[in-house]
Amino acid sequence: MECAERKIKRPYDLYALRWRVFRRDGFRCRYCGRGPGDNMQITLDHITPLSQGGTYDEENLVTACYRCNQGKRDTMLSQAELALVKVKKEC
Ligand SMILES: [Zn+2]
Repeated sequence: MECAERKIKRPYDLYALRWRVFRRDGFRCRYCGRGPGDNMQITLDHITPLSQGGTYDEENLVTACYRCNQGKRDTMLSQAELALVKVKKEC
């Protein structure tokens, strides 16, 4: 699969990357805070969409449930007026 419009670097270890982001976020949606026990479908979301220059950097990736991810689509976070649920840092 290649995007004709622009080349986006896809990391080789996308699965490992997803796993790291999910673990970092405690497997909870960063938008609504739902977790695995809340019947959520876990997805990876780009804070800045790839279509707007976002990357696969971990800092541009958050855990999101399917519903929030779909609701946001390709809009920027500020435009979508979605506030990230603050995740407490343990270290
Ligand atoms: Zn959510």
